[in-house]
Amino acid sequence: MKVLSIPMRTRFRGITVREVALLDGVAGWGEWSPFLEYPPEVAEPWLRCAEEAAAGDWPAPLRDRVPVNATVPAVGPEQAHAIVSGSGCRTAKVKVAEPGQTHADDEARLEAVRDALGAGGKVRIDANGAWSVDDAVAAIVALDRAASGLEYAEQPCATVEELAAVRRRVDVPIAADESIRRAADPYRVRDLAAADVAVLKVQPLGGVRACLRIAEDIGLPVVVSSALETSVGIAAGVALAAALPELPYACGLATVSLLEDDVAVEPLLPVDGALPVRQPAVDPAAAEALAAAPDRVEHWEARLAAVRALRESLRR
Ligand SMILES: [Mg+2]
Repeated sequence: MKVLSIPMRTRFRGITVREVALLDGVAGWGEWSPFLEYPPEVAEPWLRCAEEAAAGDWPAPLRDRVPVNATVPAVGPEQAHAIVSGSGCRTAKVKVAEPGQTHADDEARLEAVRDALGAGGKVRIDANGAWSVDDAVAAIVALDRAASGLEYAEQPCATVEELAAVRRRVDVPIAADESIRRAADPYRVRDLAAADVAVLKVQPLGGVRACLRIAEDIGLPVVVSSALETSVGIAAGVALAAALPELPYACGLATVSLLEDDVAVEPLLPVDGALPVRQPAVDPAAAEALAAAPDRVEHWEARLAAVRALRESLRR
């Protein structure tokens, strides 16, 4: 196992340094990067994803490129415009409902993003479950207007029941993210007709093949999204996106550039709004340069031991 510590370009999800573990196997490296606060039972499916990658157990790709979206954090309109213009992407995902900001901040950001993309681009929003049902309905209507049309609204509220209620009251399609990835039962989204789009992340959901099964059973179009991985982890998301029978939406996998550095010889960065479908080779010198301090390596070794002990106890 290699443990890496990589600074973030901007604070994201409350963190400024991303720690990841790379595990090697017969087919190369797999990334295991559950966030630091996750206990063993949450980190376990993330490990399955890394083991699947290291074993080379991915399905055959059906396409050789995966369209991706630009990601716009809760920044001001000028910066939002610059991020989208510089991305080469035709789809932008815009963070909204940030604590401490107003609806006017969200509207200004969306107007700037629409201006940067032009009429042909697609704009989606992500509220990370922040709104009540009534707030969500009002905000989605207002932001749909500000963006001159939204592609979809992701996780406007926290619960599946609330998503279903919002979906019945607005014309903008609803995407479920946390309601699938953090749910005891991801299929409640389907059973309650709570979403039009399923956002799937390969690490929290246990790997590429596990996600393919969820995609088939949930019966919704899928957007594959990242969990702030290096190129090694992003490759697993790309493998899923490449293997899905249909891929009608751009994926949220253009996130390597949120990290200040990467371990791949050729990082998985978008070209003309798409990622190439390939497994990147790890650059040993980069891995060495990004190696975490010995106490952090010990911490990750203890995490790995705890996940393996959990598996053992479940098997008994
Ligand atoms: Mg999301």
